[in-house]
Amino acid sequence: MSEQTGKTILITGASRGIGAACALLAAGRGYRVVINYRSDGGAADGIVRAIEEAGGSAFAVGADVSREDEVLRMFAGIDARCGRLDALVNNAGILARQMRVDQMDAARIGRILATNVTGSFLCAREAVLRMSTRRGGRGGAIVNVSSRAGVLGAAGEYVDYAASKAALDALTIGLAKETADEGIRVNGVRPGLIDTEMHASGGEAGRIERLKSSVPMGRGGEAIEVARAILWLLSDEASYTTGSFIDVSGGR
Ligand code: NAP
Repeated sequence: MSEQTGKTILITGASRGIGAACALLAAGRGYRVVINYRSDGGAADGIVRAIEEAGGSAFAVGADVSREDEVLRMFAGIDARCGRLDALVNNAGILARQMRVDQMDAARIGRILATNVTGSFLCAREAVLRMSTRRGGRGGAIVNVSSRAGVLGAAGEYVDYAASKAALDALTIGLAKETADEGIRVNGVRPGLIDTEMHASGGEAGRIERLKSSVPMGRGGEAIEVARAILWLLSDEASYTTGSFIDVSGGR
């Protein structure tokens, strides 16, 4: 474990998958890590333990990012425990069972947009209020975890999810421009087919196996491969990069 930087990072949806990989890597780079989760507190505690056992610092906070009151409570807790916020990864995201657009109802579409879009807006808002040099903050960096689906459309699977990620990309571009002269950089990553439990929630645990021949590199990706891109965008190595995207998709 490297030396502590004194910096605090919030990663939403960090109890498993890409968020958890990001949390472990961020701790290794010296961040104090706030691990947000929605329902699986046991899994979040497991990531906290792994970080602490490696000599890092972390704590878990349960909050549904689609609920404004819970987001406000989470940020107030970070203020109280850390007194600063330097980085945010808007990673929490959901999809629903595969179906065509002509089968989707409003409730389903609303659930997807509430977590993937509204949740990311709310967390970005609270982060900017704390980071902006215009408001006395020390600046910071935000990474939004989008998807190649936002570009490809996810036809026959989940166009609602793809549309939510295209909206997230617009947030990345617009917020980057709004805050560029306030010490804040905002970027996005667009993962391709990454080996996590998310595919099972769409009803097809073996989705990567079925689709991997469509990936120029011929394989799915690992969560850590996405986490490395996220941590680079957050780092000073990316000091002149804002409103940009890294596709982590094996060429797909
Ligand atoms: P995952 O394994 O399903 O994990 C999702 C995480 O988000 C869990 O920690 C979950 O917590 C949390 N979460 C869900 N809804 C939440 C809410 N409303 N509030 C707070 N936390 C919430 O997913 P993943 O594959 O790691 O995906 C992470 C991100 O990468 C998502 O934004 C996803 O869209 C994106 N992505 C994934 C892939 C892929 O192939 N896996 C590809 C492109 C983009 P609980 O378990 O406690 O509910």
